[in-house]
Amino acid sequence: MTPDLFAPSLAVVPVLVPMPAERPYSYAVPQGMVVEPGSIVQVPLGPRQVAGVVWDGDGGDVDPRKLRPITHVFDCPPIPEAMRRFVDWIATYTLSAPGMVARMLLRAPEAFDPEPWAEGLERIEGAVPQRMTPARARVLELAEPGAAWTRSGLAQAAGVSSTVVDGLAAAGVLAAIRLPPPPIVAAPDPAFARPQLSEDQGAVAEALRESIAENRFSVSLVDGVTGSGKTETYFEAIAAALDAGKQALILLPEIALTQAFLQRFEARFGAPPAQWHSDVAPRSRERVWRQVVEGSVRVVAGARSALFLPFKELGLIVVDEEHDPAFKQEDRVFYNARDMAVLRGRLGDFPVVLASATPSVESRVNAAQGRYSRLILPGRFNEAALPRLEAVDLRRAPPPRGKFLSPLMVSAMRDTLAKGEQSLVFLNRRGYAPLTLCRSCGHRFGCPSCSAWLVEHRFRGALVCHHCGHSEKKADACPECGTLDHLVACGPGVERVAEEVVETFPDARVIVLSSDMLGGVRRLRLELQAIADGEVDIVIGTQLVAKGHNFPNMTLVGIVDADLGLANGDPRASERTFQLLAQVTGRAGRTGKASRGLIQTYQPDHPVMRAIVSGNAESFYAREINEREQSAMPPFGRLAALVVSAGTRGEAEEHGRALRRAAPDSEEIRVLGPAEAPLAVVAGRHRFRLLVQGKRSADMQGFLRTMIGQAPRPRGSVRVQVDVDPQSF
Ligand code: ADP
Ligand code: ZN
Repeated sequence: MTPDLFAPSLAVVPVLVPMPAERPYSYAVPQGMVVEPGSIVQVPLGPRQVAGVVWDGDGGDVDPRKLRPITHVFDCPPIPEAMRRFVDWIATYTLSAPGMVARMLLRAPEAFDPEPWAEGLERIEGAVPQRMTPARARVLELAEPGAAWTRSGLAQAAGVSSTVVDGLAAAGVLAAIRLPPPPIVAAPDPAFARPQLSEDQGAVAEALRESIAENRFSVSLVDGVTGSGKTETYFEAIAAALDAGKQALILLPEIALTQAFLQRFEARFGAPPAQWHSDVAPRSRERVWRQVVEGSVRVVAGARSALFLPFKELGLIVVDEEHDPAFKQEDRVFYNARDMAVLRGRLGDFPVVLASATPSVESRVNAAQGRYSRLILPGRFNEAALPRLEAVDLRRAPPPRGKFLSPLMVSAMRDTLAKGEQSLVFLNRRGYAPLTLCRSCGHRFGCPSCSAWLVEHRFRGALVCHHCGHSEKKADACPECGTLDHLVACGPGVERVAEEVVETFPDARVIVLSSDMLGGVRRLRLELQAIADGEVDIVIGTQLVAKGHNFPNMTLVGIVDADLGLANGDPRASERTFQLLAQVTGRAGRTGKASRGLIQTYQPDHPVMRAIVSGNAESFYAREINEREQSAMPPFGRLAALVVSAGTRGEAEEHGRALRRAAPDSEEIRVLGPAEAPLAVVAGRHRFRLLVQGKRSADMQGFLRTMIGQAPRPRGSVRVQVDVDPQSF
């Protein structure tokens, strides 16, 4: 669409501001000011000035003299049309205020104006100083006409002090010039290090390159076991997009993964991608944002929020580990970045690549029904064997009393140690123990503001709520009966397993990795590097270690409690558990050494355990898909959850009922509930949930809008959260 310039005087334009605004507000364009849809402008809002985006359409039938004028137009390329449609779509789809979606787009306020240009120096053609010294000669050897240097950069490169450079400038040999801000990353070179692909990889890469050549919307699902070389294949898609002059975006579920990923990308393309996630310093984020909208950054790797970067000419999105629940944002605007990446591809009319060793049921169904093309990598790269997997039946071979590692697990760990190889002991539970109780009176330590037990964190000496963050010092006496030293820890967390491992293998080098570890991402990066470098014998970890990492010397993976995720009654529990177990066991044997996985379970006959141990994922998917179809659950039907929360139980329930009464009649959609939410109280707020279930053909958003619109407005402490396509249901 060609930007239609608004008439310079008396025009009215809609401006979307990053507030909970339901629609753009109208502003007058002062005489002489030129704006177009996508322009970033500053407007008065109440007593404040805020940045917003000129939106599409006219500003409404209002007298511009009655409107407040735009105060400033930023010197920034306009937000592209596809991006504006993306914001509108997400707002409609998730039932969010468009302004709240715009807020995610406008996350780099300092970037709306260009960076100031730096001072630089350049050799003046033919100029020679009257007095020549060896130091001056060294500088002039480097400084050629047309090549710009900073003062300190030139001095450093020539190995002289900056005063020598200043002297040459004063002598009229070097001229001061203005330097544009340096690029945040060098341009990746598609031809830098083309890999030798295996035959299977070659076929997948070729299909991906074709999708780039077609230059229109399509979705490819790259489905290949852990270690099959999916990354190399989608790198070829990125190379093709770069060759075609497009920008590319890679979404990763876990920022802890990016370090290794950046290195790999750099080895292939000669330069790393720009990064975008919460751990990137604000100054760098500003520059990435600016260079993305200007088009000088060609590839970004980032977390889900990178979807809201205003790419100038985006031509490819890759979603790695597309099944990962971390792609779902459950805060303010509830969206799944995998699904929204597909939407972004549709609006921008370019291909999207989803990659996973354990695709989501949704993506498998989309592939089966022909909406996505499925590209399969059947084996590990280099014919590295997958680990030999075995279920350990805890009913028959339980761990000793008060312990959590079965004799089989311990002996496998001992063998692995003896060979000088690494073990990973996996338990998806942070802390020391999930429950503390008093042996005298049976008192259990619960959170004062949530319906949840407190988890003991022994390293910190605290009992912690994993839902609201409440933390209290661990007591010696029971608060109920006062008995001293009768408090017992029930069940294991990673800290407790670590204690057992250290007791059993006192000479082994052991580390615990979990997301609440002190030291944050930086420490985590160091630890991951230490594992990769073989400085650790046994790793005990939560799902943080499950994803994507490449640990060359890891040959044993032990799952402490494979049943953990199956207990919660969520219809997606099987899928999640399958994915998690396949990913974790996939950490073993990535470089071809013989490897094994031991899966401790009380349910060795559960379909998930069977699928994992047999390596036959197909029958598992077939069964899951069939169950979803029978119950008309996503992706065969539509689902949304409305969570009503309030300071009191009565208010929450009452508003839930009111919402239910406001539901329109529909043949295609039904409302279940309100019922107490699975976590009935969180951070002092009582929660009720309504599930809205509909046929695939149903207009879910229209239904929800009517329902919410006809219900009374939430009053007092009542809040309603809308979650379209909830993760758990
Ligand atoms: P996946 O993403 O499917 O789990 P990776 O892309 O990480 O698999 O590949 C697994 C291992 O095989 C990595 O160490 C990777 O460097 C290596 N690898 C994959 N393809 C090639 C190739 N064509 N040439 C050399 N090494 C490769
Ligand atoms: Zn709590």
